[in-house]
Amino acid sequence: MRWLFVFFLALTGVPAWCEGIVEVLARSQQQRLEASPEADPQAPASRTIRRTFDTLLRRAGPLPPVELRVVSGAALAETLHGRVIVVNQSLADLTEGERLFILAHELGHVMLGHWPQMTGVYQAWVPGEVLRPQTDAVAPQLGREASAMAHRHELEADTFGLRALRELGHSPRDAVSAFMAMGVRSDSATHPGTRKRLASLRAAEAALTGAE
Ligand SMILES: [Zn+2]
Repeated sequence: MRWLFVFFLALTGVPAWCEGIVEVLARSQQQRLEASPEADPQAPASRTIRRTFDTLLRRAGPLPPVELRVVSGAALAETLHGRVIVVNQSLADLTEGERLFILAHELGHVMLGHWPQMTGVYQAWVPGEVLRPQTDAVAPQLGREASAMAHRHELEADTFGLRALRELGHSPRDAVSAFMAMGVRSDSATHPGTRKRLASLRAAEAALTGAE
């Protein structure tokens, strides 16, 4: 059960005086955003990534507010505040299709409204001021529900990425090689392991092929 609690703390951090859960979550996301220095937007890697992102946006249709930030830091790609897609400049080293899949996955999180859904779960379990004794009491249940939702969101974002690959004329194999480039991982609190994600992708690919 410990990892659920760790998951809860990782997302919320330590609350300041008299804060609601939405403020705590927003502050925690802001800290993550500020943790990675932004890369030079004119650097070749940044331009390569932005070009792929623009290709994606042109095909995406009406968009909610979304921003791309290329950074030099640890995470390869993540979405913060539900609208800021943060990617490592090393994304430029991947093939166009791999990069497209990873960016489309993140855009999927934005377009499918995953962050507001996740915030809603936290609000339901922590409705008032964030006080440590109360949050400790609900952390296991909250952690379980948030983790299950996070896993579902990852698979939905993968399917979104797969659709984008197909629409832009790339092979679904690019999604598989993107996973291989990231390295095989087991389940975490926030992400299903690589094996589950590949199985889900295969099912999504079969469904999309069958629908044609
Ligand atoms: Zn994701």
